[in-house]
Amino acid sequence: MDYTLIKYDRHPCFSFEVSHKYARMHLPVAPHCNISCNYCNRKFDCLHESRPGVTSEILSPEAALQKYKFVKDRLSNISVVGIAGPGDALANWEKTSLTVDLIKRSDPDVLFCLSTNGLMLPDYAREIIDLGIRHVTVTVNCLSPEIGEQIYRFVDYKGKRYKGGEGAGLVIENQLSGIKSLAVQGVAVKVNIVMIQGINDNHIPEVIKKVKDLGAFISNIMPLIPAPGSLFENLPQTCMKEINRMRNICSG
Ligand code: SF4
Ligand code: SF4
Repeated sequence: MDYTLIKYDRHPCFSFEVSHKYARMHLPVAPHCNISCNYCNRKFDCLHESRPGVTSEILSPEAALQKYKFVKDRLSNISVVGIAGPGDALANWEKTSLTVDLIKRSDPDVLFCLSTNGLMLPDYAREIIDLGIRHVTVTVNCLSPEIGEQIYRFVDYKGKRYKGGEGAGLVIENQLSGIKSLAVQGVAVKVNIVMIQGINDNHIPEVIKKVKDLGAFISNIMPLIPAPGSLFENLPQTCMKEINRMRNICSG
């Protein structure tokens, strides 16, 4: 894969060197989600990129553009606009793509970054690339439907609701084919993994190896922070000692 076309030099989440120099802002234009993670309470923002218990006010694409301009006028080091919820960026594609288009016309230099559970990646990979989006974060918690059915309660896909291993298998298949498709076309893919002790913790090295083979650029193992009101609310929060142990195991 040719990474030379990708501008890492200004994305604080993709380059440690610039993480203190540049900033990113999230625009909450994507209210809906198409899956149900057991650690999520949909009263709050998507947990894949935010803290539990945080609720964003939904913006229209036009209001998002105004907010971007307002913030950029005051914080000139903003280099990245992230669409990361409060639901899934691709489950709200019309609003996500319109927001990107409006801001791009106003500021052609800004980078865009999408966060998604990956279910709709095979459908939108081409449009993501055509819109000029060069950074995408996908949350991949496992590779097997047997583990996935413990994490995903249901999956809404093209007008039908899937449960159990069938739903989880669909998410996993689309995540993996979507990552590959983006990576071969030069998009920098970051993979987030929520480490859930007793469910996917021992499986994480396999996930990392697989997504690396598919062309993912960087990964981030995150602790389970059970949202109040979610099905996992009584599971223990994964401690940072365990997270760092797993990061060390996977660092190769
Ligand atoms: Fe919640 Fe999962 Fe959807 Fe994110 S992807 S909003 S954590 S259900
Ligand atoms: Fe960073 Fe992109 Fe994730 Fe936002 S969505 S936190 S900009 S990697």
